[in-house]
Amino acid sequence: MIPVNDISKFLSSLPPGIKLVAVSKTHTCGEIMGIYQSGHKIFGENRVQELTYKYQQLPKDIEWHMVGHLQTNKVKYIAPFVHMIHSVDSMKLLSMINREAAKYNRIIDCLLEIHIARETSKFGFNREELKLFVLADELKDLHNIRLTGLMGMASFTEDEQLIRSEFRELREMFDEIRNQDCLPQVRFTDLSMGMSGDYKIALEEGSTIIRIGTLIFGARIVDV
Ligand SMILES: *Cc1c(COP(=O)(O)O)cnc(C)c1O
Repeated sequence: MIPVNDISKFLSSLPPGIKLVAVSKTHTCGEIMGIYQSGHKIFGENRVQELTYKYQQLPKDIEWHMVGHLQTNKVKYIAPFVHMIHSVDSMKLLSMINREAAKYNRIIDCLLEIHIARETSKFGFNREELKLFVLADELKDLHNIRLTGLMGMASFTEDEQLIRSEFRELREMFDEIRNQDCLPQVRFTDLSMGMSGDYKIALEEGSTIIRIGTLIFGARIVDV
């Protein structure tokens, strides 16, 4: 995969209203600054320690997204500054995000992670679990989070039909909740789907946030 050499050109090739999260995991602060200086200020990380370190080192007007699995006991490190958490997969985690956000008088936007890929995964809800989750009583008391949509990862495969059908399924779940009467904390506007290899299909299937690493920063030496 040949990285884009001009991020602003890449951005202008995207349909209007699409948010690009530049996934900078394993890449240095210097590399991030290169992108930052060309005007893009939205970055994503998948590990708390790396995210916290980069937040401390880098300009404070960066919008940071947590895209990886998040453990309840680590929420406290990112709660002061994180803009959006893409990977909420339990009520326990969401309650902790709410509790920590309240300490800073913040409201943190959260996406529910949905398991759409064929590969087995410990993380992410299925369709039935999602339906129950957005109706759960516990949500009523959470005033420092907002559930603004869904995140999913398609199967790692060359089979474009499979990828497309998985994204389509996620889009259907998103629409279903969006059109449903929910608590004020649940207002679906964000559909985070699409990575370097499959973002074009994701956009065709209705994605509003794409998470792109390799295409922006080049290949990762250590894959995580
Ligand atoms: C690493 C990662 C990405 C970016 O992947 P690329 O294939 O390098 O674009 C997107 N989303 C999540 C959750 C990731 O961990």
